[in-house]
Amino acid sequence: MTAPPRLVRVAVPVPLSDALDYRWEGPGAPPRRGCRVRVPLGRSERIGVVLDHPRKTSLPPEKLRNVIEATDKEPVLGEELLRTLRWCADYYHHPIGEVLNQALPVLLRRGRSPLRAAAGPWELTAEGLSQDADAVRRRARRQAEALDILRRSGPVDAGELRGQGVGAAVLRRMNARGWVRRRPQGRAGAPLEAARDTPPTLTAEQQRCVDAIAASPPGYRTWLLQGVTGSGKTEVYLRLIARELAAGRQSLLLVPEIGLTPQLIDRLQKRFAQRLAVMHSGLASGRRLDAWQDARTGAAKLVVGTRSAVFAPLANPGIVIVDEEHDPSYKQQDGFRYSARDLAVLRAKRLDIPILLASATPSLESVHNADRGQYHPLSISRRIGTAGQPDMRVIDMNRHAVRQGLSTPLVTAIRRHLDADCQVLLFLNRRGFAPVLLCPTCGTAEDCGRCDARMTIHAASGRLRCHHCGRTHALSWVCVACGSERVAVGAGTQRITGELATLFPDARIARLDRDAATRHGGIDTVLAGVERGDTQILVGTQMLTKGHDFPRVTLVGVLNADQGLFGTDYRSTERFAQILLQVAGRAGRRDRAGEVLIQSHYPQHPLLLRLASQDYSDFARMALAERRSAGWPPFSHLILWRAEATRRTAAHAFLEQVATAARARAARVDVLGPAPASMERRGGRYRAQLLLQGRRRPALHRLMAELAPLVRTWPAARRVRWSVDVDPIDA
Ligand code: ADP
Ligand code: ZN
Ligand code: ZN
Repeated sequence: MTAPPRLVRVAVPVPLSDALDYRWEGPGAPPRRGCRVRVPLGRSERIGVVLDHPRKTSLPPEKLRNVIEATDKEPVLGEELLRTLRWCADYYHHPIGEVLNQALPVLLRRGRSPLRAAAGPWELTAEGLSQDADAVRRRARRQAEALDILRRSGPVDAGELRGQGVGAAVLRRMNARGWVRRRPQGRAGAPLEAARDTPPTLTAEQQRCVDAIAASPPGYRTWLLQGVTGSGKTEVYLRLIARELAAGRQSLLLVPEIGLTPQLIDRLQKRFAQRLAVMHSGLASGRRLDAWQDARTGAAKLVVGTRSAVFAPLANPGIVIVDEEHDPSYKQQDGFRYSARDLAVLRAKRLDIPILLASATPSLESVHNADRGQYHPLSISRRIGTAGQPDMRVIDMNRHAVRQGLSTPLVTAIRRHLDADCQVLLFLNRRGFAPVLLCPTCGTAEDCGRCDARMTIHAASGRLRCHHCGRTHALSWVCVACGSERVAVGAGTQRITGELATLFPDARIARLDRDAATRHGGIDTVLAGVERGDTQILVGTQMLTKGHDFPRVTLVGVLNADQGLFGTDYRSTERFAQILLQVAGRAGRRDRAGEVLIQSHYPQHPLLLRLASQDYSDFARMALAERRSAGWPPFSHLILWRAEATRRTAAHAFLEQVATAARARAARVDVLGPAPASMERRGGRYRAQLLLQGRRRPALHRLMAELAPLVRTWPAARRVRWSVDVDPIDA
């Protein structure tokens, strides 16, 4: 008798439902759970993670291959994360290898050691932190830039700084002044800086929130903080983080988009200085690994990051906080489609620590969970300062003269606020110059040949661009069909900005949208201009809604509310309410009263009338009642199958096959479709979807647990691109 082989079960990053078994031939004992190994796969090699040490395998001996080598001595993924990720693979019906891969920094996926031996990154000293970058800018522009970068991102590698225009000479000069230093290796021992700012005295409402959480028994609990915009929610987070810090525990703070919230990172840097690790997709891979490692060792006491930071390893976690918990960017929209907000709750539960979800406009799911006692509600109803809620009015676009999307009452109001030396924000969810290039003679509009969409005119660059597939070509005003001159119909942010420049020739106007963001230093420059008061009118898209605190903005104009009033899916009403109230919340801060003007052709629309009261709870009650009677989430649960192919029939045939298999197995699950996606053709591919809807999750997931692995074995599944989206946010 020969001894049975020693087996390891390895999650390999390939689209297979299950982990794969390999033989371990030594040297030594098989690597532990959570360690990486290099394994053969087909004719290539992959890095995978050990999940298990099975006694038996279903593979025949001749198919069983050997592990090539063990990459780690110590696990890179701890038990808690491994279990959470296993749960994710089951719940989201996504291949385990890809799920684990997503949770690892890219350098670890490639087999690098978690310990980096490079020279330490540059960081600010206390002296550097207290410098006024604007004052420095006049004499030394590069140094000011370095101050800005280091303040926003924490320690940064020399190579990365060089990439951003800050060379070694600049850093040497700053080092000589005592403003920057090389971060010592062995970061865990890095000295703690004293707090750089003085926390304000909390308002009674803020204090009640902090006290409620502090006084509750230790262990898991989800708190839902609904606090109006500008009510000081962030200050509540800072206090909770400080409490954990005092107790020697870590905090995990999730934020929607770091690039859009430099103010928040600034505040965290000042309050918590060197104990901060920032994680987001914009970081160079080396920095990302450092942040991951600092979180894992506990050197970082505060881990701040965007959605993928929900998988941060935590040595000694004390609390999780999710800022703007309603924000759609918490949902990963391709590959492994997870909700970071939902996973944050799951992780807190498993770690047995409290979690705070906060927003001025919480998601209806969370409101519902609070209603039924799952979440513990907290609220802040008053804003900081004396400004109070802004005054909100609807401008009837049928009754006023309108030029390029701007009505006379709005133009008058802009003038009044500028005269009072205040700032104005104008929100329009459409970038570019104009959304349609139309021939008035023959009526043809220029379409993207690859999508069911119109080409958007970008006048500044003289090009047409498809916002869905990125296709672009030169703009010609001559109609190809009949030779007449064409016209630009509708207005985007570019056109509005141009029109404002004509109306207010002396005003300083800036634009914040994805086009502006792609320019060098784009978003930061625009936001800094508004913060300093240089910019008087800011025109922008959704990016305006993200928690900015601009004390001198007193007027907010919503240029085209109608775009949001007639959405196509069951969530459009909720999204519209959130966007409207968030953007309105930028008006009037501290001691300056605010005004919000909404342009609409439907001033009597019941949703507008309801939102004009700015009572989000009232809106949420109404919207939840509608969801209940229509049977939409959270009163049912959805799983969406998507498929796309260059031929329409291929996408449909595949989903038809899935639907048939689902119907044969479905008990208490409705199988709806397949149907064309809301934009059927995109990037030259036809898109279709199939919706599974169930009153209760278990039935839905039992069905999927059979269906997903089965479908992966079908040859048809290799001929179309398809994906599964559990709890989709755009069904
Ligand atoms: P929110 O996150 O609710 O939108 P913030 O936390 O950004 O609100 O607070 C708005 C502004 O009020 C910030 O500039 C903040 O520094 C200030 N602030 C917060 N709490 C207090 C307080 N207790 N006293 C004075 N100012 C405060
Ligand atoms: Zn024509
Ligand atoms: Zn296109």
